[in-house]
Amino acid sequence: MLVSADTVERMALVSYTRQNRDAQQAGKLVTKGPELERLKRIATRLQAQVGTFRDDAVKWNWQVSLIDAPVQNATCAPGGKITFYTGLVRQLKMTDDEIAIVMGHEIAHALREHGRERVSQAYAQNALTTTALAAAPNSAAQIEAANTVAHYLYMLPNSRQNESEADAMGLELAARAGYRPEASVAVWRKMQAQDKGRQQAQFTSTHPSHQTRITELTAMLPKVTPLYRAAATVPPAAQSSSRRSQ
Ligand SMILES: [Zn+2]
Repeated sequence: MLVSADTVERMALVSYTRQNRDAQQAGKLVTKGPELERLKRIATRLQAQVGTFRDDAVKWNWQVSLIDAPVQNATCAPGGKITFYTGLVRQLKMTDDEIAIVMGHEIAHALREHGRERVSQAYAQNALTTTALAAAPNSAAQIEAANTVAHYLYMLPNSRQNESEADAMGLELAARAGYRPEASVAVWRKMQAQDKGRQQAQFTSTHPSHQTRITELTAMLPKVTPLYRAAATVPPAAQSSSRRSQ
């Protein structure tokens, strides 16, 4: 890949910081309350399992942002910066298990650096330059470059292969954290049901067809169910240490 992981992480952080600041100024950043606490609780349990897939991610400076907007979307930037929108959680009436599945999927994209692939493609096509990526902090050039990076990270669809990988890894992450694997099928069925007869939500416009996903996830359930059962018998507080020793 043409753009280093460090560069992508740095630019993603610039974009994440600005996103949160803009949301705060608009009064849309949720900084306290049960909805944010719930997301943080789920994120903490998932983060305790990332070492299964990637050692250094355990030390990422993980962060969760909740933005109050009628947007059905969630993202995880390289380096562990998670964003959820209230529209996704509220409109789909998501359970904890379903949130864990979607969050796990987004975390998996970050762990596997799928976004970095697309940023590297943008660089290859001269949509980003070394000069722009090295622009001084807070300069107009850096902000523009960060916006471009964010566009390639979040707005463009992933390849089908990357989506399948994120589904499989996200499902395993959630199962290891003690979240019900069947929730994966349930949450995509909810999206499928609500997309009938209405405009596609943002999350689904950057993701492949529900039916393909549901079929693949159903086939994966037998593999991850034992992981879920093993995790579910351990109190959440003891999970990170017991998992890591395996
Ligand atoms: Zn995805």
